[in-house]
Amino acid sequence: MNNIAKEQRYKQRQEKIKNNIDKRVGEAQTEKGLLIVITGNGKGKTTSGFGTVARAVGHGLNCVVAQFIKGTWDCGERNLLEGHGVPFYVMKTGFTWNTQDKTADTEAAQRVWQDCKKSLSDESIDLVLLDEMTYMVTYGYIDLEELKTALMNRPKMQSVVITGRAAHRELIEMADTVSEVRNVKHAFDSGVKALKGIDW
Ligand code: ATP
Ligand code: MG
Repeated sequence: MNNIAKEQRYKQRQEKIKNNIDKRVGEAQTEKGLLIVITGNGKGKTTSGFGTVARAVGHGLNCVVAQFIKGTWDCGERNLLEGHGVPFYVMKTGFTWNTQDKTADTEAAQRVWQDCKKSLSDESIDLVLLDEMTYMVTYGYIDLEELKTALMNRPKMQSVVITGRAAHRELIEMADTVSEVRNVKHAFDSGVKALKGIDW
C-alpha cells in the first residue's frame, strides 16, 4: 500500500471513531449529579478526589470536603481550598483504630459524619468529597445502610466522590463511576520518604 492510500485509510478510521463518539455524546441525555468511587491500592485516590474539587471550585461551584482518618495533619489541599471558601470537616482526634478504643474512634467518625449528612441534604452544595470513607464502613464506624440512604436521598444535581481502599461491594454497585487505582510501584517501597506537596 502506498503512503497516500495508508493516509486515506487512517483518515477514514479516525472519522469513524469520531462519529461514534459524537453519536454517544449526542445520545447521553441524563443530567444528574454523580456518585464516584476511587478505590484500589495504588497512589492517586485522594489526589483524584481533590482534583475534582479543584475543577468544581474553578467553575464557582460549592464544595465540601470531609476527611476521615487524617485530621490534624498539615494538608496542602486544605491550606489552599479553605482560602477559596471550601469547608473542611476533619477528625479532631486521630484514630486509635480497632486495636484500642473503638468507642472513641466511632465518636470521632460520627462527629464528621453528622456534618456530612447536613451537606448531603443541602441543595446549595454541588460536590461533596468523602475522603477515606471506605474505611469507616469497613471498620463499622459509619453504618453502610445509613450512608447509602444519605447518598440515595441527596439533591439530584449533587455529586459525591468517595475515596479509599477496598470499597464495599454495595457502594461500587450504587456508584455511577468507579475507578480502581492499581499499584504498579510506589516510591515508599524503595525507602523514599513521603514528600510535602506530593503525598500530603
Ligand atoms: P494520594 O493521597 O497520594 O492520592 P491515596 O489516597 O491513593 O494517595 P492512601 O491509601 O490514602 O492513598 O494513602 C495516603 C498516603 O499513602 C500517601 O502519602 C500516598 O503516597 C501513600 N500511598 C498510597 N499508595 C501507596 C502504596 N501503594 N504504597 C505505599 N504508600 C502509598
Ligand atoms: Mg487517600
